[in-house]
Amino acid sequence: MLTATPLAEQLDAQRDDRLRVLVVGAGIAGITIAQLLRRDGLHPVLVDRMPDMEHPGYMLALMPTVDQAFIDLGAQEAYRAAGTPLERYRFRSHRGRPLRTDALGELLSVYGDYNGISRGELIEVLTADGCPVTYATTVDRADQAGVRFVDREGAPMREASFDLVIGADGIRSRMRGVLGAGDAEIVETGWSGWVAWADDPGDPTLGEELWGDGFFLGVYPVRGRLGVFLGGPDADLTAGPEAFAASVRRRIDELGPRLAASLDAVAADPDPYLWRLDDARMARWVLPHGVLLGDAAAGFLPTAGVGAGMAIESAWMLGRMLAHADRDSLATVLAAWERVERPRVESAQSNSRMLATMMFRRGTLIAWVRETVMRMLSVRAALKPIITLVAERPDPDAVAQEALRAAGVVHRKDADTSSAGHPVSFE
Ligand SMILES: Cc1cc2nc3c(=O)[nH]c(=O)nc-3n(C[C@H](O)[C@H](O)[C@H](O)COP(=O)(O)OP(=O)(O)OC[C@H]3O[C@@H](n4cnc5c(N)ncnc54)[C@H](O)[C@@H]3O)c2cc1C
Repeated sequence: MLTATPLAEQLDAQRDDRLRVLVVGAGIAGITIAQLLRRDGLHPVLVDRMPDMEHPGYMLALMPTVDQAFIDLGAQEAYRAAGTPLERYRFRSHRGRPLRTDALGELLSVYGDYNGISRGELIEVLTADGCPVTYATTVDRADQAGVRFVDREGAPMREASFDLVIGADGIRSRMRGVLGAGDAEIVETGWSGWVAWADDPGDPTLGEELWGDGFFLGVYPVRGRLGVFLGGPDADLTAGPEAFAASVRRRIDELGPRLAASLDAVAADPDPYLWRLDDARMARWVLPHGVLLGDAAAGFLPTAGVGAGMAIESAWMLGRMLAHADRDSLATVLAAWERVERPRVESAQSNSRMLATMMFRRGTLIAWVRETVMRMLSVRAALKPIITLVAERPDPDAVAQEALRAAGVVHRKDADTSSAGHPVSFE
């Protein structure tokens, strides 16, 4: 559970740490790295700009890239219990006809779990051991002189020094500017979508997507509920969720009770979360006064469903590699982390960008071509980019050790550098 904690208390707790780490942003990536470092005996300071975490959240489908983080946190069983196995994925035509249903779970099971889980439940799982956080707090300066904490209105709170500042403040990151990262490379689709919850998940193992002519409807079960995403071109969404849901309903022949209830859920939600569909890619993750992590480093379009999966993997890689670092060797280890992890994340992101060129389109001709391709493509071929990533993930301990050896840096003596304490499921 996230526990609201005064900043002074967090700073006191880390006074004697071998690495004093600050994590800005208590989202999926920030919490994951903070908890992994805590397991390694550190006391990272964690702050978030929000006054609390009481928002309704949304659904996540998590690929096996996340499993090792849960194993290292001792939370794999809790993760499985809080989620629901996504066994099958159904692709529907632009008029709603089921075109194919694939056993995704079985295919991915060679590599690990494929689970649906709500963001709130995921955060509960990650923080089951307790996780201090200082709310309504951010950072507006980070340089040699240290870090300046400010409140939500920008009023200075206090200053402090850290060995490592991690900017994990999401896709619209301000830490990029604070750390001097320059501008993000952004793909703008011109589409957005509403996110809502339907009460009845229907088949809890089945995710479904309907790539329409000028709209997109996806339903993703989590435990006991169904997450719904209804998207379209920005210009068409100005009429509001109710009117847009009604126009989509008119364009679908085979809706069925589950998709009908999903459209109703979007229409009935008085204030559904609107997700703007653009992404962000930073050319550098390791900067002179800190690093970027998760969506702040590479924020994803929803098309491949791997943003959180890669954010958790990046945090896990960083956490494992930092176990080998002290103040003297930190720069070497961080450089090695960026060298192995950024290309992996960028390849997943490039795949999601490619899918976006097929998904966010108008026109029946394009829909017909897309459906013909989808009929012919094997599910293994469709999943190849993600399977390759999972199957070929490097061992972070070996990468860190090799980097330290190559730099002639004396290895941190007290680090548990063997993989024995950290079972690696696919090497
Ligand atoms: C509707 C929706 C559905 C999604 N579905 C999937 C899916 O099925 N599978 C998948 O893998 N991914 C999915 N994603 C993507 C996934 O949610 C993100 O990739 C993931 O949350 C990234 O984690 P993060 O910690 O980098 O950012 P976030 O989780 O966004 O966390 C950022 C945190 O930083 C805080 N913050 C923001 N600004 C500041 C600041 N200036 N100072 C301090 N704190 C700040 C925020 O309050 C927040 O707590 C989905 C995203 C959305 C929106």
